[in-house]
Amino acid sequence: SKETGIVHISTGDLFRKEMADETELGKSIKDKMDKGELISDDITVELLKKNLPESFILDGFPRTLNQAEMFKEISDIDLVVDIDVSDETVIERTLARRICRKCGAIYGLNIKPNQEGVCDKCGGELYQRDDDNEKTIKDRLEVYNNQTKPLLDFYKDKLVRIDGNRTVDPILQDILKTLKEKSLYM
Ligand code: AMP
Repeated sequence: SKETGIVHISTGDLFRKEMADETELGKSIKDKMDKGELISDDITVELLKKNLPESFILDGFPRTLNQAEMFKEISDIDLVVDIDVSDETVIERTLARRICRKCGAIYGLNIKPNQEGVCDKCGGELYQRDDDNEKTIKDRLEVYNNQTKPLLDFYKDKLVRIDGNRTVDPILQDILKTLKEKSLYM
């Protein structure tokens, strides 16, 4: 998003904002979020619709075939990027993830802050998401395999697979190269 200027929309971030703002929706989804279960397709698509700019990079959406079908009625997707990572690496990386409460910067296995628990960029406090514990991460992987993986076939004509078992920079460069090839980014 920083490279291309295209707005990044994460349905997980939208849900976490609802929880932080303690809205009725936020309160009603907390239990499911903590367990790593999916929020209903209707609620998810409704919230996304309210926050959808003209051009977007979707992150964490769609997660079910039904969401993909519903989204087809709302907008078009040009490209689907599958950042493919082994389960062990997902678990290792997700357990190490820390997020800045103030600016949202994300730290991880190979991106450590200079001072533990403190954001390099703004000095904010770093926290760990409630659902980034080993049990919930494994449950989320199972949800992914059962409900989200079938989307690879649904989007097979728009799909590009990127090897995610590498550091950030080569992954980013591969994605940008693909966007350029498809004339989605100059
Ligand atoms: P994420 O930030 O993408 O890891 O998502 C965190 C949690 O938010 C998920 O485990 C779900 O509980 C919920 N969530 C995010 N995106 C979706 C979605 N597209 N459909 C249903 N639930 C979602």
